[in-house]
Amino acid sequence: MQKKCIGCKREISWGNSSCPFCGAAQSRLRHYGSSLALAIIVLAALGWVSHKSFQSLLEQSKQQLLENNQQQVTAANERIQALVNQIAELESQLKSAQQNNQQLKENQSAKSDERQSEIQTLKSQLASAQKETEKQEGRASWLGRENNRLKSELNSLKSELAALKTSNESQSSNSQSLLPADPPTVETTPESSDDETNNR
Ligand SMILES: [Zn+2]
Repeated sequence: MQKKCIGCKREISWGNSSCPFCGAAQSRLRHYGSSLALAIIVLAALGWVSHKSFQSLLEQSKQQLLENNQQQVTAANERIQALVNQIAELESQLKSAQQNNQQLKENQSAKSDERQSEIQTLKSQLASAQKETEKQEGRASWLGRENNRLKSELNSLKSELAALKTSNESQSSNSQSLLPADPPTVETTPESSDDETNNR
């Protein structure tokens, strides 16, 4: 009885437990067992390694996530701080703007007060000027009336004087004795009489 060797496929007899040519064990279990065990060991090792590496990957990714989260939290905190600073800056700007506004308002009201008092002064000056004008107008009209009155008085005096002169001339032609009695009445207005005599 012949059979083929498991290892080298050459013809060997049934009785041989191992190949006379290559020395391979002719039991299938014994022949493949070592390979199987090796394969199992390799697989187990692979499994262990892959498990370990998976665990470490998981650990790493967890660590990475944690670091990322930490970084994001830090970035968010920085951003919050920046925003808080910005808000503080804006608040101080608003405050100074409000102060400026207040200052402007105060200046304006002071100016308007000043202007009000200037207007008041001008008004009172105008009123006194108007009063003065009225006074001057009254004085002018009084002077006009007075002038007219004086003119008419002067005219009546002139006519009186003329009448006296004519009566004087007629009397002097009649008698010289009456002449000295007349001058005192004429001399009550000496200047006008002088003017009249000089003009004639
Ligand atoms: Zn063989």
